[in-house]
Amino acid sequence: MLPTKLLLVVPCYNEEEILLKTHRTLQEYYTHLEAERLIAPDSKICFVNDGSRDRTWQLIETICQNDPKSIGIKLSRNFGHQSAILAGLTQYTNDYDCFITIDADLQDDIAAIGKMLEQHRDGAMVVYGVRDDRSNDSWFKRTTAESFYTMMRWMGVPVVFNHADFRLMDRRILEEFAHFKEVNLFLRGIIPLIGFRSEKVFYKRLEREAGETKYPLKKMLLFAWNGVTSFSTFPMRLVLYFGLFNFFIAMAVSVYIGISYLYGSTVAGWTSIVLPMTFFSGANMIAIGLIGEYVGKIYEEVKGRPRYIIEKVVEVPEVRSEK
Ligand code: UDP
Ligand code: MG
Repeated sequence: MLPTKLLLVVPCYNEEEILLKTHRTLQEYYTHLEAERLIAPDSKICFVNDGSRDRTWQLIETICQNDPKSIGIKLSRNFGHQSAILAGLTQYTNDYDCFITIDADLQDDIAAIGKMLEQHRDGAMVVYGVRDDRSNDSWFKRTTAESFYTMMRWMGVPVVFNHADFRLMDRRILEEFAHFKEVNLFLRGIIPLIGFRSEKVFYKRLEREAGETKYPLKKMLLFAWNGVTSFSTFPMRLVLYFGLFNFFIAMAVSVYIGISYLYGSTVAGWTSIVLPMTFFSGANMIAIGLIGEYVGKIYEEVKGRPRYIIEKVVEVPEVRSEK
């Protein structure tokens, strides 16, 4: 079987401290993969600069000038991790056979790439990189991540446990993906929805070697919330249940108040007025806020703004030998 033409997509946001090392490591690994006949010689690595504020883009340009196997895409500003990945994938969907997305910080074990390619050769259309050991992550990151996956599953979003965005996708998957038009992107939820045969490759998550995480708590929570509300209306249903529950309590309270009135003890009823009032106004606020959240999402989708804007692409054209 012919080796596949692979495009590795690497989103980069303020990664100047590690980028050169990442490039060197990937380049060496490509040589190895080529020797193993797992990838074709015209396979490439695409670095997507997601509006970094440091020297990341200058480094990418230098890399691309010296290495014909590297491509650089510069987004016009910071669009976020998911959009950066998407930019690389959609820009080149028709030019490669298979695609792997990997973070720039080398936290994902690159040895898994070879295993993914083997699975692909055996017929898998999607191969998920799954962390089976998160002992290098902080306790906090581990616990929050685990509760995130559990919660997503519970709400009916088909996410793969402990799989981030380290994944192989066949070109066919991306062609189908092009029909998913949502602006609020949560790739981990969409890819399983596309179907086809999928496999998993397990690996150990390493520590970030340099630089710091670009996902501070606030961004992580936002990402999780986006994942939930883009994929599930369960929170809205929860509000409905909550509303029904409140309604029955209110009925009971009214009966109580009615009886108290008949027995002439209404003056002492301050608590029974104030307490339900605060409780129900709180519940109302939650419900309105949640609905607002979904309405806002609809608004975003209706506007249909571009998910990313490419400012520039650097790629050394392949030197073809004249016949
Ligand atoms: N990243 C990006 N845009 C952003 C945030 C992050 O392209 O707005 C990239 C970042 O450079 C890295 C990957 O996404 O390659 C994952 O980020 P990070 O390693 O900081 O996340 P963590 O591994 O801590 O969850
Ligand atoms: Mg990381």
